[in-house]
Amino acid sequence: MGKKIVSVEFIPVNVAATNWSENTVIVKVTDEEGRYGIGEADGPPECMKAFSEIETEHKWLTNLTEKVISREPIEFRAIWDDMYDASRWIGMRGLGLFSISGIDMALYDLAGKQHNLPAYKLMGGAQKEKVTPYFTLYPSISADAPLREIIEAYRPLIEKAKERKVNALKVVVMPNDKVTDKEVVEYLRELRGIVGYETDMMVDFLYRWTDWQAARWTLRQLEDIDLYFAEACLQHDDLEGHRRLADSINTRLCGAEMSTTRFEALEWLKQAGISVVQSDYNRCGGITELIRIGELCDLYGAQLMPHNWKTGITSAACRHFAISNRNSKYVEYLHPDFWKGTLITNLTENEPQIVDGQIAVSNKPGLGIEINKEFFKKVTGRDL
Ligand code: MG
Repeated sequence: MGKKIVSVEFIPVNVAATNWSENTVIVKVTDEEGRYGIGEADGPPECMKAFSEIETEHKWLTNLTEKVISREPIEFRAIWDDMYDASRWIGMRGLGLFSISGIDMALYDLAGKQHNLPAYKLMGGAQKEKVTPYFTLYPSISADAPLREIIEAYRPLIEKAKERKVNALKVVVMPNDKVTDKEVVEYLRELRGIVGYETDMMVDFLYRWTDWQAARWTLRQLEDIDLYFAEACLQHDDLEGHRRLADSINTRLCGAEMSTTRFEALEWLKQAGISVVQSDYNRCGGITELIRIGELCDLYGAQLMPHNWKTGITSAACRHFAISNRNSKYVEYLHPDFWKGTLITNLTENEPQIVDGQIAVSNKPGLGIEINKEFFKKVTGRDL
């Protein structure tokens, strides 16, 4: 049967441009037998579509789809390297890498369907039986609300997570300049009291500081409550600040959620000294690049917990990647039980249940994504 790819489509979905998980670009890659694979990229949906339609000018500015059509999807690395070289002039970072990420994810889905294998086998095979997620909890309350109210808004979310026997959860320190570091310390102590010590607790500081010593002061005050990691403490590009902070605290420092490629991941490991890398499924270059980043993490004794805040398509990719990646205790996971977004709730069907805090991976061919075709038509105006 013919396995060559005949088309690559970028399909924008824009439900509400208010949150990363409420718009997406679905990438559909179809082979000569009519089988297709699905992936998704991050980035403004219409810009992403326009990027995929760029006219070829020269060797370093070539439409990405030319490097995919007529190839077999299982040639992941060869296709990836060709796409990267072909977009050198305008890609390398940003939209170019986001586009490659979406195409690459779809290749694993299609290759799995062609070879009748679940995608994790194409990613190197299962090293674990189940996915152990950490869930990022966001209370629906204004960032300017008093901390007391935020704590009370968190309480039912944390209780629900405990009922589901979740192994780990992440809370946020909302951006509010009026809140002092001392108040942040008290706030996190109180949340830790509600979470208890059976569950690992991560904290996302949402880029709170530009001063690494202020971050150090705060994290040192919190050492006795045993945070699993501290994320987005400093400006994203401040690798030197991260290194100074990482060297002076006992808590794992986490970062790199906006980075792309293994080259940037290496800078974060080597120069910034982080111990949890968060390169994103839909931005960093996709699954093929994440496998390479996982190898780098192995060399540095670091964990890879890719940033994950999109739709059920990425959740499916996350499940397969998570069990094929040995060096991470947890992965970030967006689940409709904990985030009631329109796309995460409706775009895909049969989202696996959380059982004792864990999620099983399907053995269906490819990524095992089931798109809700009626909803798809409603939000895209076309059939899948
Ligand atoms: Mg984050």
